[in-house]
Amino acid sequence: MTKLIRSIKGTYDILPENSGKWQQLESTIRKIAGQFAYEEIRTPIFEKTDLFSRSVGTETDIISKEMYSWADRDGSSLTLRPELTASVVRAFIQHNLGGKAPLQRLFYMGPLFRRERPQRGRQRQFHQFGVEAFGSAHPEQDGEIISLAFSLLKALGLSDLSLNLNSIGSPECRKNYRNALQDFLRPFLSELSETSQKRFETNPLRILDTKAAHEIEIIQNAPNITAFLTEEDQSHFEAVQSFLNALNIPFILDSKMVRGIDYYTRTTFEITSTSLGAQDALLGGGRYDNLVEDLGGKPTPAIGFAAGMERILLAMGTMDESTPINTTDIYMVNLDLTGLSVAIKLTQSLRQAGFDVQFETLRRSMKAQMREANRSGAKYAFILGETEIQEKTVVIKNLNSGEQETKSIANIDEIIKNLTI
Ligand code: AMP
Repeated sequence: MTKLIRSIKGTYDILPENSGKWQQLESTIRKIAGQFAYEEIRTPIFEKTDLFSRSVGTETDIISKEMYSWADRDGSSLTLRPELTASVVRAFIQHNLGGKAPLQRLFYMGPLFRRERPQRGRQRQFHQFGVEAFGSAHPEQDGEIISLAFSLLKALGLSDLSLNLNSIGSPECRKNYRNALQDFLRPFLSELSETSQKRFETNPLRILDTKAAHEIEIIQNAPNITAFLTEEDQSHFEAVQSFLNALNIPFILDSKMVRGIDYYTRTTFEITSTSLGAQDALLGGGRYDNLVEDLGGKPTPAIGFAAGMERILLAMGTMDESTPINTTDIYMVNLDLTGLSVAIKLTQSLRQAGFDVQFETLRRSMKAQMREANRSGAKYAFILGETEIQEKTVVIKNLNSGEQETKSIANIDEIIKNLTI
């Protein structure tokens, strides 16, 4: 027997019964992004591996163990994108978007790939919506980005939200903090897990993300990054907070939230939902004022966030719900094989007039076709039997009222005018 080929672990199909809610989510995202004047950017699914290792950082989980990379035929290393900020920054530099307008507000939606251990809310192919604003170093830009995130989640009806906010300052202040954190952790080194011991050397700030209870207890007394912020970092951070207060967006200051990615500077934030389980992060983002320059562009401050679309659907409680979108207006019932070309032409005219028309191609019985017409949600069935084909007419049945009338096909314009959908 032929062996069935199944989808890859950690990936899944979005079937027609589920694609309706994806379309709704996508259209709400487009609407809110439009309200804030963000424009869509679409970049390739794969990029040179260097792009990600140079931006996200080689010591992060994403780069060190989660990338789908391979050697292309010419030997160059390529990678399925594990995140989108790096790609958007690459495109920003490559197309000199900064030279075209001093402020570029961009949004994206699309699939990403990370070789993680699959569980609820965590896949190997998943989707993110994200925004990036290039050009402004001012705190009102941070406020705008966070308020966009909040507006979107509110527009989707989500309420159990918690916004965690922090500032991780400039790279200089982070270097000092890193040293202080290492000094603090050194006496506890033998008590730390193997992963944290490794991170102690490579990326000690990541230890603050630990989920292990005994490590959480240790880091409770660790120094706070807030104490290492420069005066400018501090006043920027305070201004961001006052914008959020003015917008009535509640937040929690979380000085231990450093986020794992190397390119962040100053503001970092995360929004979680209490209605999600272990994977409770809906979105995360922050400022990355040096990334454009680090990747070879002109110095350009920037800030953005990325939201997991599956997580949003899970929080909305609609992830497992089937919400078919059915847009059939008219079901074309064909009973006379000699009249099929008449039926096809009539169908084409109706579609050109803007109606959604289902055309029967299974040559089923009258009863079966009418059952299908009712099931399709169509408002009208157009019935073409032997008599109708001979007389060049069509029976138009209103499937809601049950009323029907016979019309001459020659009067197609009048038929179209009288259809109320
Ligand atoms: P990150 O790019 O890691 O900051 O993730 C941003 C958001 O993407 C997270 O808050 C999640 O909502 C979502 N996300 C990240 N990784 C996954 C994954 N493997 N599966 C599903 N959603 C994810």
